[in-house]
Amino acid sequence: MLKRTRDIQKALSESGYRITQPRQAVIEVILRARRSLSPEEILARARKIDPGVGLATVYRTLDVLHAEGYLERVRIGNKGYTLTCTEKTLHFHLICERCRTVTELQSDRFSRDLMAQLRAAGFEARKHAIEIIGRCAKCQPSE
Ligand SMILES: [Zn+2]
Ligand SMILES: [Zn+2]
Repeated sequence: MLKRTRDIQKALSESGYRITQPRQAVIEVILRARRSLSPEEILARARKIDPGVGLATVYRTLDVLHAEGYLERVRIGNKGYTLTCTEKTLHFHLICERCRTVTELQSDRFSRDLMAQLRAAGFEARKHAIEIIGRCAKCQPSE
């Protein structure tokens, strides 16, 4: 089991969530993923760990993780995808619409400026990632 899986499970059970075997499988799949995953993809992978996982468990676990701030949802086209992100400071998600790899990008200067302006506007940001959708270096057509 990944260390982060254990940390998250501990935090969730402290918040009063019961971590069942199927939920644990879903959490592990999400944490292992190198790209954003759709609920159906999470289901298929989680079933390899625990055949008892159902789509309802996937959605429920996604809701819990989202509510606790462990993951973000992104939309690519008209489909929703999920990725884990525990970064609380402002940053970018570069999302490839073809292979759905998500690259995290930090820009300290940009974050400082934008956070200062948000504060000045009295706005409290709940989400701290800005999504940029496009093509990653690998997925660009070669000339
Ligand atoms: Zn992030
Ligand atoms: Zn790509």
